Amino acid sequence: MARVFVITGPSGVGKGTLISGLMRQLPQLELSVSATTRAPRTGERDGVQYHFLSNEEFDRLEAQGGFVEHANYAGRRYGTLRSELERRVQEGVPIVLEIEVQGARQVRASMPDALQVFIAPPSLAVLRERLVGRGTDDPAEVARRLEVAQDELAAQSEFSHVIVNDELEQAQRELVALVQQALQGGEPLD
Ligand code: 5GP
Repeated sequence: MARVFVITGPSGVGKGTLISGLMRQLPQLELSVSATTRAPRTGERDGVQYHFLSNEEFDRLEAQGGFVEHANYAGRRYGTLRSELERRVQEGVPIVLEIEVQGARQVRASMPDALQVFIAPPSLAVLRERLVGRGTDDPAEVARRLEVAQDELAAQSEFSHVIVNDELEQAQRELVALVQQALQGGEPLD
């Protein structure tokens, strides 16, 4: 029975929004709070959206084996903390990881039973509009993220579950149905 849910896909595709809706509808799920070396955005708080670390702190944790997976993304480091995962896995609490593609690959290798879902945009043009429109990143950062997105989109065939986030409500329904079915121990639909 899948207990670890990996939600991946390019930045700006709507992973965060879809995951918020998923957690509201399936409140037994818990979200893993990742570590990152990027600076907090306005309104982000340490320990809530991320554990914000210096490069040295990240290095130290990495050396101690503190990460389940970690990756460089657009010049910053991101990683899933072992401490976020272990207790929940032991207690059978289902956990959601919102991570980029390199991290998803590492989880696939170490936890093959985790259910992985790739969220795709309807097109690269729509992704660009969303990244610009959400206004969280300056133009240089948007450009970096779009460049990474091209590689990420090329990787979507690696994932057995792909949800196209064209119409939010539809994508939301598909994600909830997939996770719900996996929680109930059924074979996930392809
Ligand atoms: P953002 O800077 O927009 O919060 O995140 C940038 C990218 O890093 C997003 O695609 C996000 O899903 C991903 N990310 C967030 N936390 C982690 C993590 O712990 N590991 C990995 N590999 N990627 C992460």
